[in-house]
Amino acid sequence: LCGLSKHFTLGGGLFKRGRTLGAVNEVSLRIPRGQVMGLVGESGCGKSTLAKMLLGLTTPTDGDVLVDGKPLRGADQKALARHIQPIFQDPYSSLNPRKRIEQIVGLPLAIHGLGSPRERSTRVADMLDLVGLPKRAAQQTPGQLSGGQRQRVAIARALIMRPGIVICDEPTSALDVSVQAQILNLLLDLKREFGLTYLFISHDLAVVEHLVDRLAVMYLGRIVEEGTREQIFGNPRHPYTQALLASALTPEPGLGVPDIGLNDAMPDPSNPPPGCPFHPRCPKAEATCLETRPRLEDVGTPGSRVACHFA
Ligand code: SF4
Ligand code: MG
Repeated sequence: LCGLSKHFTLGGGLFKRGRTLGAVNEVSLRIPRGQVMGLVGESGCGKSTLAKMLLGLTTPTDGDVLVDGKPLRGADQKALARHIQPIFQDPYSSLNPRKRIEQIVGLPLAIHGLGSPRERSTRVADMLDLVGLPKRAAQQTPGQLSGGQRQRVAIARALIMRPGIVICDEPTSALDVSVQAQILNLLLDLKREFGLTYLFISHDLAVVEHLVDRLAVMYLGRIVEEGTREQIFGNPRHPYTQALLASALTPEPGLGVPDIGLNDAMPDPSNPPPGCPFHPRCPKAEATCLETRPRLEDVGTPGSRVACHFA
């Protein structure tokens, strides 16, 4: 991702200029082939908007998505887009309730005219087997399956096109804890099997800890820290990452929203604070933080970056 931004205009009218919401601001991120890149941050920080730009579901205001150095635009867009497939949080809303699983998983093949009906049906059966669904599931509808099974269907549908890159947007957040672990293990097995590259989006650091090779932390539309799993979990440098980690390590069962140990809620993204966007919540803020926005920069360890004046 190269300088990727997405701005929305809010409340604009014929004679009135709307406010600009910078959902994603100048995000540059390299996802190494064959690795799992985690992307974490509170809800509303721009993670899903970033995912939509990668999937070609929304157009960037600025910047490019490059796959193997080629921009995801223009003539090759369709071919490249097929190369990137999503797995979303709530498979129920994205699976047609009236179709049989076999039809749902085979639909991308049919749309792209790949193979004869017979070949398609073999490929679908193989894929259902790979994601751990019983044979009979092929003839069932989404409503007849459990939540975990539906997520397996969504995974099968994403992989049937043999993508290189899979964008997992909170793929286990809607599932029971016991099922979550099964799905995460399945995703890791499939990654090995197909040599996939994952962007794994989550609001929950505990979920990504055993999954990712690298991790990027997002706050108000910007990456504030990026590094290897060992570095982020062992030596987090940004105060926001430190707060997220502290809250992940002290789970409070029963509370839907994690208390991240910060005084205020996240500021309105359409009216971000001046200087460092994190300063109103930062326990380490000093005068300069109110005026100058820190750049995301290398700080010693190669391949790790952080945006804080005092990291
Ligand atoms: Fe906190 Fe200042 Fe660092 Fe921002 S730049 S994270 S306000 S210490
Ligand atoms: Mg989201």
